Amino acid sequence: MAVAASPTTPTRERMFIGGEWIEAADGRTFDVETPATRGKVVAHVPRSGAADVDRAVRAAAAAFPAWRAVAPRDRGRLLLRIADDVDAAVEDLSRTLATETGNAIRTQARPEAKTVADVFRYFGGLGGELKGETVPLGETMFSYTRREPYGVVAAIVPWNVPILIAAWKIAPALVAGNTVVLKPSANAPLAVLHLARICAAHLPKGVLNVITGTGEEVGTPLAEHPLVRKISFTGNTETGKAILRLAADRIIPVTLELGGKSPQILFPDADEERTADGVIAAMRFARQGQSCTAGSRLFVHSSVFDPFLDKLAAKLAKLKVGDPLDEKSDMGAIVSRQQFDKVVGYIDEGIHQQGARTVIGGPPPSEGPLATGYYVEPTVFANVRNDWRIAREEIFGPVLVAIPWRDEADAVRMANDTHYGLAAYIWSRDISKALRTAHAVDAGWVQVNQGIGQVVGQPYGGFKESGLGRENSLEGMLESFTQRKSVTINLAY
Ligand code: NAD
Repeated sequence: MAVAASPTTPTRERMFIGGEWIEAADGRTFDVETPATRGKVVAHVPRSGAADVDRAVRAAAAAFPAWRAVAPRDRGRLLLRIADDVDAAVEDLSRTLATETGNAIRTQARPEAKTVADVFRYFGGLGGELKGETVPLGETMFSYTRREPYGVVAAIVPWNVPILIAAWKIAPALVAGNTVVLKPSANAPLAVLHLARICAAHLPKGVLNVITGTGEEVGTPLAEHPLVRKISFTGNTETGKAILRLAADRIIPVTLELGGKSPQILFPDADEERTADGVIAAMRFARQGQSCTAGSRLFVHSSVFDPFLDKLAAKLAKLKVGDPLDEKSDMGAIVSRQQFDKVVGYIDEGIHQQGARTVIGGPPPSEGPLATGYYVEPTVFANVRNDWRIAREEIFGPVLVAIPWRDEADAVRMANDTHYGLAAYIWSRDISKALRTAHAVDAGWVQVNQGIGQVVGQPYGGFKESGLGRENSLEGMLESFTQRKSVTINLAY
């Protein structure tokens, strides 16, 4: 493995509020590190507090009346220009993403940056879809509905695919006529700030604001701010619950995209070779398993359990874990020390306390090139029980647990025995069986015989504690970023 590039001087970043690039009011900063080289600081970023949040929300509120008055198609046109500029910046964005998140540039960071352009293009074309309805109320009364923006939207995003999730919020919120205060994760604010620079060239001042800092110091005052009229949050389920409680005090709507522990159900008739590739994709090993939709519980029919795990292990052994900036790396590093320790803790618990059998992987190497960063190799555990913590809790690392089943109903029962319900994957060549199972699992998104990432334009969101509401589609835009108003006219007046 090539070790990450030699040290360079950390950059000094500013955040984007009211059309200006500024420091935090009290001048504080926090460090952004690259996980490829433990603890190497790559940037100093403003560490905001409540006063900065207030400034950002007021800037967004001030920009709202003029922005909502722009015709929706014209708002959309600006997004199309942003999409073109994102295309032109893909390489820079990819390098920044790989550096701050640890996601491998070829398999993750570059595809993420390219998809961001698709997202702006998709929503940029939806300006004309903010339609209302007419309601038949007789000859003397006429009623119609309008789709109106909320006003200031607080968009709070995590670190795993930071600019993609930011785009899923910014683009539909803006085309619908809202203004936005975006808060990136303190682990990965740099590519989001770069995206803001691209947007800044096309948007009026205050329409998009990006505020940097920690969840407690920025996220909470943002969620509590009286001028915020809608919260769109993606992150951990526990944080989502805290935000929902804050929103309840002011009765403001919240869209939540939260965690998962998604099942993969493998029938004995599944094609071994293609399914092994698909299971690896669905588990998001290439993103170190750091995906909300990671299919991290694998239920394999007992008749094919051992041979399938052997096949899976043989394929995983070929994945190259290493420097995220190296084009040859299939997998990069875990985002931070905290996340690394959490993942390693689950691996240790699985082996030493619960007695799982390690099919491949295990604790990270303590020496050699991989010990220079937060690297964890793909890990698969067998002999796992569905009630163990490694089978129930979201590890958010490259750790897959495999559990055998004999009876289809039992497989579905185990798959649904979780408080999460984000995604599910079914592997079978028998389409009737596959669809029967797809309909029986509790998940917002079920894939049959594939394990791809979210598709632009498809309604996306979780069942159960994986979320509330839908985003990333026309339906998601209308549901999450507009409110309906009915206007009723007396024609006999
Ligand atoms: P997190 O909840 O710790 O943080 C997410 C964002 O919320 C960050 O910007 C953080 O600073 C902010 N935040 C933290 N505490 C806050 C508070 N009290 N009030 C307001 N904001 C606060 O999540 P994370 O560790 O950044 O991301 C990983 C989690 O995100 C995983 O659980 C993953 O499943 C989930 N996720 C879900 C989806 C989805 O679409 N369902 C997509 C990606 C990630």
